[in-house]
Amino acid sequence: MHQRKRSSGSDRERYDLLVVGAGPAGCAAGIEAARAGLRVGVLDRATFPRAKTCGDAVSNRGAALVDALVGRPDALRTVPHAEVRAGAAVFPDGSRVVRRFDDAPGFIVPRLHLDDLLRRALEAAGAELRQGVAVRRLEREGDRVAGAIADGLHLRADVVVAADGPGSVAWAALGVPYRRGIHLGVAITAYHEGVDHHGAPDTNEHYFEPDLRGGYGWIFPAVDGLSNLGVYQRADRFAAHDATLPELLQRFVERHPERLGGSRPLGRARRWALPLMSRPWPPAGPGVLTCGDAAWSIDPLSGEGIFQALHTGRLAGRAAARALAHGGLDRLAARRYQLACAASLGPTSLGRLAIQEGMDHLVAHRWYRHPWIRRAIDRGYGSEAFEVSKRVS
Ligand SMILES: Cc1cc2nc3c(=O)[nH]c(=O)nc-3n(C[C@H](O)[C@H](O)[C@H](O)COP(=O)(O)OP(=O)(O)OC[C@H]3O[C@@H](n4cnc5c(N)ncnc54)[C@H](O)[C@@H]3O)c2cc1C
Repeated sequence: MHQRKRSSGSDRERYDLLVVGAGPAGCAAGIEAARAGLRVGVLDRATFPRAKTCGDAVSNRGAALVDALVGRPDALRTVPHAEVRAGAAVFPDGSRVVRRFDDAPGFIVPRLHLDDLLRRALEAAGAELRQGVAVRRLEREGDRVAGAIADGLHLRADVVVAADGPGSVAWAALGVPYRRGIHLGVAITAYHEGVDHHGAPDTNEHYFEPDLRGGYGWIFPAVDGLSNLGVYQRADRFAAHDATLPELLQRFVERHPERLGGSRPLGRARRWALPLMSRPWPPAGPGVLTCGDAAWSIDPLSGEGIFQALHTGRLAGRAAARALAHGGLDRLAARRYQLACAASLGPTSLGRLAIQEGMDHLVAHRWYRHPWIRRAIDRGYGSEAFEVSKRVS
């Protein structure tokens, strides 16, 4: 276990580990590090409970990580949720490829509840969460990151973990550009009431349509009568047509009167960016690691990012604890963390980027109707490689 240092200045202003962002990635990093004995400070510009623009789908492997972090089985059943027991890929002619995973269900959990559950686990683990504090920039000392400047606060730390999503303060500190094109997804989501789930209230539906190349539209099971739906597209494909995201969402709703004809939106539609794992290396360097969306870790095919945030957050928290037990987070320790992320997520994500390209052609040229191709899709979907919603671990 890491020996806690005496701080040189005020105890309140110095931490072993400072985490920027208390979403899934930041909570996972903070919980792991606090459990390893580090003095952990976490800053978030929001005040919890807070909503986050998301489809709210937590895969079964994501749910398993939530259980480990919260420290109890079936943690997601303690908050408002819907169980997801099947995923369906729906093609433009209305045909469907359905995959059931009854023995290892996924969940829909509104982020208002998921993130607050993780926030409570973070504080229970002993981390100090400071809410309503926006970090302006990371502070460097020589070649390493040594702290953060936030709303008039000057905070020092041996390691900083940036878990603050797209446009992370770590990108500026490390000179990482905001990559678009195939590296970014864009999405818009809305809650609707009165969605017709056609007697399949436990199925995540992904609609692959010519209007949404390099992405899909989704309709997810309802939680407390509200269904999360939206459209997701890779940024290069989105840039290729002149429709706005609200227009794409509107068209998607209009194309599906059988589901959405009797529904109505509750609240406004919300859009946000998805940094995709199109390169396996998360930004990192002496004194600083990134995780979650700040580490470009989202699966490009499915848009799944919660599992990746929890996973890379845990790796970052452990890497920080290990580095501090051995004198600090130097370049080599940062590289080891990058390797751990690349090895565990890189091959899958890059493979799924290729599958996404293939899916694009299948839909654009209507090849999905060809019996041989159809058989291959059925088999691929059944073997999880194609499966876009819930991967059974
Ligand atoms: C429309 C849409 C739908 C999606 N649907 C799904 C889905 O169904 N399933 C799935 O698995 N993934 C989905 N994703 C991806 C998923 O939302 C993200 O991958 C996930 O939230 C990443 O978690 P995170 O902890 O890295 O970042 P976030 O959840 O974004 O948390 C970042 C935190 O940092 C805080 N913060 C930001 N900047 C600062 C700052 N400067 N100072 C202090 N605090 C700061 C924020 O307030 C926030 O609390 C979707 C994304 C979008 C946009």
